[in-house]
Amino acid sequence: MPAPWTPRHAWGRMDAEGESAMTVIARALGAAVVALGLAAAAAAQDAVVLKPAAVFDGTSGRLHAGWAVRVEAGRIAAAGSDVDEAGAEVIALDGLTLMPGLIDLHSHLLLHPYDETGWNDQVLRESVAERAIRAGKHAEATLRAGFTTLRDLGSEGAGYADVGVRQAIEKGVVDGPRLLVAGPAIVATGSYGPKGFHDGVDVPLGAVEADGHDALIAEVRRQIGGGADWVKVYADYRWGPNGEARPTFSVEELTLIVDTAAASGRKTVAHASSADAMARAVEAGVATIEHGDGGTAEVFRAMARAGVALCPTIAAGDAIARYQGWDGAADTAPARIAVKRRSVDLALTAGVTFCNGSDVGVFSHGDNARELELMVDHGLTPLAVLTAATAGNAAILGLENEIGRVAPGHAADLIAVDGDPLADIAATRAVRFVMKHGAVVRHDAE
Ligand SMILES: [Zn+2]
Repeated sequence: MPAPWTPRHAWGRMDAEGESAMTVIARALGAAVVALGLAAAAAAQDAVVLKPAAVFDGTSGRLHAGWAVRVEAGRIAAAGSDVDEAGAEVIALDGLTLMPGLIDLHSHLLLHPYDETGWNDQVLRESVAERAIRAGKHAEATLRAGFTTLRDLGSEGAGYADVGVRQAIEKGVVDGPRLLVAGPAIVATGSYGPKGFHDGVDVPLGAVEADGHDALIAEVRRQIGGGADWVKVYADYRWGPNGEARPTFSVEELTLIVDTAAASGRKTVAHASSADAMARAVEAGVATIEHGDGGTAEVFRAMARAGVALCPTIAAGDAIARYQGWDGAADTAPARIAVKRRSVDLALTAGVTFCNGSDVGVFSHGDNARELELMVDHGLTPLAVLTAATAGNAAILGLENEIGRVAPGHAADLIAVDGDPLADIAATRAVRFVMKHGAVVRHDAE
């Protein structure tokens, strides 16, 4: 799929402009530093003390009443009941619960709700320019909703536009969460869509096809070179004889993908709904499995043993069922809703680590809290869900020392909500204050 945004062209253009290698390296290092939140132009330099009613710190499992948090140079300097206010601007957050900024490990900023425009039409009829502009608005809505970090899992036909959106956010062109992106993602030849055209029509696909030893190694490396922070592979897709999810890549191919990504210091995430594909992905060593609807007790036990986390993406299936006319009532639920509920049940029983990952883009950006509510509805405790959406997701990203906690040294990605989210998860919708890397991006009381 030749495209003007492939890394080969991008690097070639830099060379043509005669930039020195040092400039390029310096820029790459700079981007990496910003991505990790070690420095950000937007970070507030002055000390701020936030005084909420209580603090959820992400790891201790309870609210700390009467805590305050001191922020300096974009980072948390102190948190507790005896925080020094000297030389600091005090921001009163009366009656609110302060907590780490929320993390969603499965987003698609380059998609918008399917009841507005179907996936096929977004991939085939919307220009990359339109999609990137929409993504900027989506990013703003997401940050205002209290989600300060996203793992964006595939541009769905928009090439490396997700890398561009990440860079635009880092440069302050548009407000948005910290992004870790997957680039175009990798699918097995013949498995992915859009489909349904005669063989004389060349259709742009929602991901890049590659198979076998050499081609897979090259494609993984190409996507890493193009800016992917994670490598995403579709371990199955709905290409069975009756449109059911069936495995795509062999265990050997998946292992090759994981190993190639790992050599560069990156983890692999697998889309998988069928038990067979999930088992292959676990064996290959992926870090997370997305969806997991057809998971059996045996597969979930294997995931628990191997430390592979599950992003159940409950909200996406729920949204699609509603687009198809479901009224949301338990007794009229379509089969896929019951299947999802059973899979979450089995995963809980097996002790699988849950991510918070919603597949937002299928439904409205900024409505990410829907997944938190549905996880509670499916049997997780509010504490388990809040932990997953903060410190848990941070650990899966390998950023446990950077985000997801209210603790000294961590980036000041902080939100305040109206109510006690440990008592009622819906409080995560009542966001009144958002700070990203020390900069206030929303304060409703002001
Ligand atoms: Zn997705």
